[in-house]
Amino acid sequence: MTLHDEAAHEVRLERLAAVAVRTGLGLRPGQELVLTAPLDAVPLARAITREAYRAGASLVTLLYTDEEAALARFQLAPDAAFDTAPGWLYEGMAAAFRAGAARLAIAGDDPSLLAGQDAEKVARANRARSRAYVPALELIAGFATNWTIVSAATPAWARAVFPGDAGEVAVARLWDAIFKASRVDGPDPVAAWARHNADLRRRTEELNARRYAALRFTGPGTDLTVGLADDHEWHGGATTAKNGIVCNANIPTEEVFTTPHKLRVSGHVVSTKPLSYQGTLIEEIRVRFEEGRIVEAHARRGEEVLRKVLETDEGAARLGEVALVPHSSPIAASGLLFYNTLFDENAACHIALGQAYSKCIRGGLSMSEEELVARGCNRSLIHIDWMIGSGAVDIDGIGADGTATPVMRRGEWAA
Ligand code: ZN
Ligand code: ZN
Repeated sequence: MTLHDEAAHEVRLERLAAVAVRTGLGLRPGQELVLTAPLDAVPLARAITREAYRAGASLVTLLYTDEEAALARFQLAPDAAFDTAPGWLYEGMAAAFRAGAARLAIAGDDPSLLAGQDAEKVARANRARSRAYVPALELIAGFATNWTIVSAATPAWARAVFPGDAGEVAVARLWDAIFKASRVDGPDPVAAWARHNADLRRRTEELNARRYAALRFTGPGTDLTVGLADDHEWHGGATTAKNGIVCNANIPTEEVFTTPHKLRVSGHVVSTKPLSYQGTLIEEIRVRFEEGRIVEAHARRGEEVLRKVLETDEGAARLGEVALVPHSSPIAASGLLFYNTLFDENAACHIALGQAYSKCIRGGLSMSEEELVARGCNRSLIHIDWMIGSGAVDIDGIGADGTATPVMRRGEWAA
């Protein structure tokens, strides 16, 4: 890296920190922040910490995660240990959110960290962690507080995305891709995000006005009808959390999304991009739905892991999200596979197995569990997005009377 490059990198890192704190969180003066980051993301974590204090944070609590230490567990811990999770930590986080703290996660995981480990142990550890995480997850998924996720280029992640490049080159290229996708390339990224949020809001308003009963996806290997939940609401871009703060939960984001009806999904669908899940690449997923539930599941690679995921609980084989992303989105245009859902889900239309977002039901954030379930909202410990859109997929909106209206043609908005 030359001196000039390094200075330019610092500028963009500061801009990403500004977008994370100002647009992602909308951090309010006096608010606490719980920040988690991988060890390889120290410079971004520190830039975000500085920006948070500039924005008036009362306290930033920064927790680092160490992937090598995480790996040591799988290599050395006794077999009986894999049902253990730090419930005390997640209960503490939940207590912080209830007391008004904001939440920011820096993502940068090695997508293949656990690739060589025993799938059974990985599944047990994930299940234990998911269960222990419930108190915090409920508050996050319900937007009890303002939260966001941003990404940092880490050496292991960069190696996966750019396997042909030397280490430093791969990291620099991944940073470039992150800065571009996160819209921090221009001089005023916070203003660029305001425009982007306005575009996404216009899309969601159109879809909300049309009140489709279902969406039908057709393309190579796919004929899938996704019934939408009763009183479903489309969202995209900024969200107003229950504390009144406007936040952008994902940086980047290109999607508009809503919740399917958990009992009204039928037909078959094939994935259009590999799904990177906890260190395993699951490729060419082919599933068939009957009455909302996956009744047949195959994958060309990673089928065993897919099956374990589907067995997590009753809701794991049903849908909790359907999302629309044009094939021309900047992330799709990059042509990269990021091995990271935060990016890959913003490159194509997708569906998610598992937990639905309460906010995707009109008035859902203040509804009881029973009221949400009655409207078709799915419940599960998992939420896993996988990509079903491409330049070869068409989508029709199906009205309550059965009439079909083009929503997307060959991966682009029809109107
Ligand atoms: Zn999504
Ligand atoms: Zn999702």
